[in-house]
Amino acid sequence: MALVYPPECPFCGRLLSHGEKGICAECEPLIPRISAPTCLKCGKEIVDSEAELCADCGRQRRSYVRGFPAMNYVSPLRESISRFKYHNKKEYADFFASEIIRACGKNIMDVSPDVLVPIPVHKRKMRKRGYNQAAVLADCLSPKLGIPVDETIIERTVNTLPQKMLSDNERENNIKKAFNSCKKCVKYKSVILVDDIYTTGATVEACTRLLHNMGVEDVFYTSISIGRGIDLYGIEKLPKL
Ligand SMILES: [Zn+2]
Ligand SMILES: [Zn+2]
Repeated sequence: MALVYPPECPFCGRLLSHGEKGICAECEPLIPRISAPTCLKCGKEIVDSEAELCADCGRQRRSYVRGFPAMNYVSPLRESISRFKYHNKKEYADFFASEIIRACGKNIMDVSPDVLVPIPVHKRKMRKRGYNQAAVLADCLSPKLGIPVDETIIERTVNTLPQKMLSDNERENNIKKAFNSCKKCVKYKSVILVDDIYTTGATVEACTRLLHNMGVEDVFYTSISIGRGIDLYGIEKLPKL
């Protein structure tokens, strides 16, 4: 894929020159990498270095073990992910996967999951966009981590309303009903979910419950980015996706 088109900078769109890898030299300093201290559960940056959990994780119980997000969901990454998702910029997956490996590769290898499971999109969305961005990302991560991908165990059954139209509570309920397991049980003990953005964790929670029901013991997630959440914005300003 990357060989067909000359690679472009996933932030500014300029064609990369010789020697630039993944991102152009001007945009490199703009990569919103996560810095310590971080929440021990979801991996989000937290303000209070004494706290173990962010306010989101303190407020809501999540069944996954731990999350490994690579970057903060802020500009210009935000626009870049939007082009990756909606404007056919599948080749950005390579840069995103490299950032995940750089930020969380060691942590992911330490928990040695059996398989990568991309968060599925609904069939109708799939037809419209032609691809599932989370699956494209998982396929890119797989050879780098040496962990296989399984796209056959969870499906999205409800084409959910755009989350930005919903309140916090409605979002949680909306998502809970959106997925279905395709199998009664699976042989995996440990699974890592793959997504582009982690916001409140409602999506990861819904999929984690299905995986537990299929016999998976430990669920982790990794994502390109994580919303900054209520710690930095206050609950009323929680960025809606
Ligand atoms: Zn650039
Ligand atoms: Zn957290």
